[in-house]
Amino acid sequence: MSVLNRARTAAAGALPDWTGAIAPHLPEWRVCFSTDGSPEPTGIAPVCPDEDHEPADGSVYECCSTPVIEVECTELAEYLVVLLNADRGEAR
Ligand SMILES: [Zn+2]
Repeated sequence: MSVLNRARTAAAGALPDWTGAIAPHLPEWRVCFSTDGSPEPTGIAPVCPDEDHEPADGSVYECCSTPVIEVECTELAEYLVVLLNADRGEAR
C-alpha cells in the first residue's frame, strides 16, 4: 500500500468520528471564512447541514459543523477541499 493510500485509509477511519459524519461516509468539505478575520476564505469546514444556511455563504455560524480548520491561504483551502471531496467520492 502506498504512503498516500495508507494516509487515506487512516483518515477515512478517523474523520467520521471527528467531524460527526456517519461512518463510513466521509464529510463533505467547503471553503469557509474562519476566525482570523481575513477578507478571503482561508479555512475549511464540513458542509453545513442546516437547511437555512445558504450553500454559497462561506461564513461559519452556530449551525455549522466543526472542525473549522484555518489554513491561512485561500488557494490551499480550495485545493484541500477539492482533494478531500474527491477522496470522499471514492470512499463511498
Ligand atoms: Zn451553518
